[in-house]
This record gives sequence, C-alpha cells and structure tokens, in this order.
Amino acid sequence: MKFVLVIGDGMADRPVEKFGGKTPLEAAHHPHMDEIASKGTCGLLQTIPPKAATGSEAATLSLLGYNPEKYSLGRGPLEALAVGAPLGWDDVAFRCNLVTERDGILVDYSAGHITTEEARELIQGLNQKLGRGEVAFYPGLSYRHVLVLRGRKYSPAVRCFPPHSFVGHPVSTLPVTPLAEEAEETARLLNRLAAESKALLTSHPVNMRRAAEGKSMGNMAWFWGPGRRPRVPLFHELHGLRGAVISAVDIVKGIGLCAGMELITVPGATGYFDTDYEGKADYALRALEKYDMVIVHVEAPDEAGHLGDFHLKVKAIEDLDRRLLGRLLSGLEGDYTVGVVADHATPVEVRTHTRDPVPFAVYRKAEASSKPAKRFDEASVKSLGLLLESGEAFIRLFLGLP
Ligand SMILES: [Zn+2]
Repeated sequence: MKFVLVIGDGMADRPVEKFGGKTPLEAAHHPHMDEIASKGTCGLLQTIPPKAATGSEAATLSLLGYNPEKYSLGRGPLEALAVGAPLGWDDVAFRCNLVTERDGILVDYSAGHITTEEARELIQGLNQKLGRGEVAFYPGLSYRHVLVLRGRKYSPAVRCFPPHSFVGHPVSTLPVTPLAEEAEETARLLNRLAAESKALLTSHPVNMRRAAEGKSMGNMAWFWGPGRRPRVPLFHELHGLRGAVISAVDIVKGIGLCAGMELITVPGATGYFDTDYEGKADYALRALEKYDMVIVHVEAPDEAGHLGDFHLKVKAIEDLDRRLLGRLLSGLEGDYTVGVVADHATPVEVRTHTRDPVPFAVYRKAEASSKPAKRFDEASVKSLGLLLESGEAFIRLFLGLP
C-alpha cells in the first residue's frame, strides 16, 4: 500500500458574510477533493493542541502523528536542517535574518526582500570574517539564513525578538538576553556578532550597490528562533514506512527531516502562488516508486489567508485541486491511500493562524467508506460528526492502523 497526503497550508477558514456566508473551500470548485471526500472517510481534526503555538510547526507535527506539546521545535534547528547545515545534538541553531537598520531603528525585517544571490554573498562574507570552529553561518533563501553555534557550552535559553514583529523599534531595546545562567555566554556572543555584522555589512559592495539603487541594505544579521535539534522518533521506526516530503517551506522540510524522511526538491516549487503544481504531482508519483509515503505540502492558501484575499485563496485551492490533486489521482496505480487536509486555518478575515479544527478526507482504494461527505469543505465534513482530537488519531486512520 502506498500513501499520499496532500496538505493545503492554512486552507481551512470561516464563513465570510461578504461572500454569501461561504468559506473559500465552500466557494471553490474542487472536484478531486470532493471525489476523495465522497468515496472516503471525512471529519474534523484538531491539529493544534491547547498548549502549542498556532502555526505550521505544531500542525505539521500533528499531521505526522506526533504530539506537538511533547516536542519543542525551534525555528532555527528546523531551518538549519532544511538548508542542509550539519547539526549535532549539542549544537544550537538560530534563524538569521538579514535586516535593514537605519539610525538605530529596525526598519525592515527582510532587507527589502533581498535577492538570494546578493544575500548569499553577504552571508558568506560574514562567515569568512566572523565564522570559526564554533560559529557558522549558512545561507538560505532571500533574507532567511541560519547561524549554528557548536557545542554544549552554548544554550538555546535566550530571549530573542522575531524581527517581523518589531519593525520600527530601536535596535538598542531588543538585545538578546539570557533566560538562564548557562545562556549568558550565548547571549553575549549573539549581541557581539550582531554588532560586528553591522560594521561588516554596511561597507560591503553588495550593500553599497543596493543603496545606490535606492534599495534597502541588508546591513545587519538578526538572530532568533533558537533551538537544539529536536529528538523526534523516526517515522519509519514507528510505522515501518519510508517517507518523503515535497515542500518549499523550511519548517515543513525540517520536520520531515527530523522524522527521518527524505526531501524531494521540485525545481519550480516556490512556496507561493506561482508554484509548480504539476511538477509537485509528477515528483510525488515518481517518489512513490521508491517510498511508501509521500507528503505533498502547498503553501499558497496560507499566503492568501495572510493577505486577507478571499478570491486568491479560492484560486489557490482550485489550482491545488486541478493542477496537483487531479494529476496525482490520474497517475496513481496499484493499492493506495490518498488524504487531503489543511494543517491549520488561516481565515481571510483574521489574516493569521487560528486553532480551529481542520477538515480532512482519506480515501483508501477499494475500501468502503465509513464517513463519506458530499463535498470537501468545513461544513460538509463537520456534519458527519467525526472529530479527531489528535494527530496521532489522524495518522492511525490515515495508515489504516487499529
Ligand atoms: Zn502562515
């Protein structure tokens, strides 16, 4: 039996009065999701337990059957794994933004969405000047990079400020501070690296060029999201299945890697509305020749939710259905189980993640359905009265375990 799980990030929503009291899933035309729902088992799933933060970290862990309240996942280590940085159990990883500082103020958390090529030069420059055995910078995409501090003497018990939440604040009010005695050296080092980065980056030719073109400079490294490599039990040891993950999002990739799954890179996957949906379907079908289970993650509905754009979210759902799911279903052979689910809700009227339970549908070929729904949307699956309280319950249902 082969397993495919298609995750629409932030796809769940709430009824929007302005659009006839419908959710984007209710308004969208998605015959392939409906086919899975009408032949399979549907319900609602609580992916985010009360004590977990509302976001894709907790939700993705849940969908893979892990309890997010049990595993502390920092953004740093997940992104470190996703960019291919070597990460030992003792190391501490941080997300490292390239930000714009002007007159002592944090003015842009993304350095004007600096290009990957320019950022790579800046980060490699930092690594040459500031990197040494214990300190290593790894370039990622655009403004998103990684810092790894190696060895037990460093600690993730530091308070950091996610820069996107502190735009407009004076940098001097946002120092990294230790939350425990053993983290004092770590905090000191991070503040020193940040200060030195400013001096080195401001005079870098890449930034001189950007300034001349009227663009924001990436003139400071900003550290946040600390953590050690999470000790998550491996999926194949728990379930005897070899898995692979297709996603353009570092958090999802990192969780897959922690669970012992392989990453499959689709060249045109962007994590945005222009992603290569067909490519994701084709790579997933090919991956199923080698792996027992493939997770296909699509970020676009979440982005539309954050933008508060109902029509864009409807379009993202329809693209996912027609261009990815339809292509996948027509290519599947032999015995298979296919599931479709949202990781969490990103309601267009809230514009951020919420704890609402999410709809799921699971269809196992040649098996009679116990809870079919006419359509795949929040209200249709809710009316069936099946609410799974945990990701563990979901993965058991998905894998057909007792
Ligand atoms: Zn989101």
